[in-house]
Amino acid sequence: MTPYSRWIALAAMFFTGFARAETADLNAVHLIKQEAYFHSQVMDYIHLIADEHGSRMAGSPSYRSAADKAVAAFKEAGIEQVEVEAWGKFGRGWDWSRVHVQMKTPQETTLSAYPADFAPGTDGPVSGEVVFAPLWDHPSMASVNDDIEQTAHQIERWKSKYRGQLEGKIVMLDHPHSFKIPAEPETYRLGEQEIASGVANDYDMPLKPGRVPTLEWPMLAYPIDKEESSQVWNVIPIEFATDRWRLNARIMSRMGQFLVEEGVGAALVSGGAGIAGVIMHSDYGSPYSGDSLPPPSVALMPEHYNRIHRLLNRGVPVTVEVDVDAEIYEDVDGLNIIAELPGTDRRNEVVMLGAHFDSWHGATGATDNAAGSAIVMEAMRILKKLKLPMKRNVRAALWGEEETCFCGSRGYVEDHFADPITMKLKPEHDKLSVYFNLDGGGGKIRGIYLQQNDMARPVLEAWLAPFADQEVDMFTITNTTGTDHLSFDAVGLPGFSFVQDSLDYYVNTHHSNVDHADHLIPGDLMQAAAVMATAVYHAANSDELMPRKTLPRSLPPKNKLPDILQ
Ligand SMILES: [Zn+2]
Repeated sequence: MTPYSRWIALAAMFFTGFARAETADLNAVHLIKQEAYFHSQVMDYIHLIADEHGSRMAGSPSYRSAADKAVAAFKEAGIEQVEVEAWGKFGRGWDWSRVHVQMKTPQETTLSAYPADFAPGTDGPVSGEVVFAPLWDHPSMASVNDDIEQTAHQIERWKSKYRGQLEGKIVMLDHPHSFKIPAEPETYRLGEQEIASGVANDYDMPLKPGRVPTLEWPMLAYPIDKEESSQVWNVIPIEFATDRWRLNARIMSRMGQFLVEEGVGAALVSGGAGIAGVIMHSDYGSPYSGDSLPPPSVALMPEHYNRIHRLLNRGVPVTVEVDVDAEIYEDVDGLNIIAELPGTDRRNEVVMLGAHFDSWHGATGATDNAAGSAIVMEAMRILKKLKLPMKRNVRAALWGEEETCFCGSRGYVEDHFADPITMKLKPEHDKLSVYFNLDGGGGKIRGIYLQQNDMARPVLEAWLAPFADQEVDMFTITNTTGTDHLSFDAVGLPGFSFVQDSLDYYVNTHHSNVDHADHLIPGDLMQAAAVMATAVYHAANSDELMPRKTLPRSLPPKNKLPDILQ
């Protein structure tokens, strides 16, 4: 080795942490597995959050009462430092307590339904003749829905088409949902093919060299092509994406405002996104105070929705009665639940784990995301119970407002770590080692999304090596989207979500009326709690902080919106 090359080797070690060698503390892992597998309380936490409490719509009194139960459960596990922390004004809260949808003609029969979110109640039963008035003339046109400007123009065309015709009517807004009669197994576990490709589900964005997408703020449209869209998701700042959702909600609320002005009785939408018999529906009204409210609206089981559509097509008049009790709460605070185990000698440094605690409203949010919340609570209980020495503080977060805007975690990150727009850093930014997130349903952990952080791979592989025979074997460079680790990633902090077996999450339980504890498998939850506790334990004791990616740049100023979107 020449002196010059020796210098390069030394410099490489210095700058890259090349010398870092991590090993698993097998004694600690053994104790964690024993506690997680043979003294588990994870199902107790599921019953507490999902069965006893029920759904937890962010910003509703019911979210707050569930949060109080979680705080009490942390305290019962001996975790004293726990509180409900407000991060700022969230927007609109909403909840419901009763729904009845009755077909009056041509046959008296009760239809399966639940209220569409952020729509008001009916103030007693309203009945009327059903009319079919979808926004898009043909379902295939709806793919352009990715373009907010085109949507706004279509809403104006739709308003002129139906103006003066809808008074007192029950209006069908969706095209019928055509689903295949289930022919494949409903429960999925990852196979060799997914593990080899590093892509487990539709939220995953593989790292693929290719055309660099142009990004503009505001981001009005995504590419329709899946591959191009995936490239966008690999580079899009989360502020662009969430800002786009906000704008989309405001533009779509013009439809609701029109229906209210026209004096419709109620609106019907199809809860058809899953498989037969399941009502899968969310993201209907706007969760932002100030946006117009839709009329009372219900999501029907797709078979019931489709039957009405077929009757209308055959010229048979249909009358439906809708009765909904729902409440709207304006300008509510956003609330996270934060619990902390103090470290021993690096108390100014923190390791975080978390899951969103809010749910949609069709069932009890058991897989989305009482499961993640219960696993986080159980991981904290295990670490507390075992009194394993941990150098850094370990902080658990159960986030609010994930479902609508990742607002709970984004608000927390902005309060504590950095402004994602200006990238102005706060002192705590230097002190967070890593954030681990869980939000993929109730399936066991199969690995971790490295979120393009190559440097983290050997670290995480070493810590989780004792779970190789528990099927934790997918350490993928892929990004995954759609949940709270993105809030940390957005400001250059290591934020990771675990890869999980999806079981029947995407076909049955995700944002549906069957998201109940029946769809959870205790052994899977126990394994996930053990993996999470193990990852956190090692992060809390490692000599170094988790390696970081390059710091993102501040975001460019936002362009002016086109007139139709003002
Ligand atoms: Zn979720």
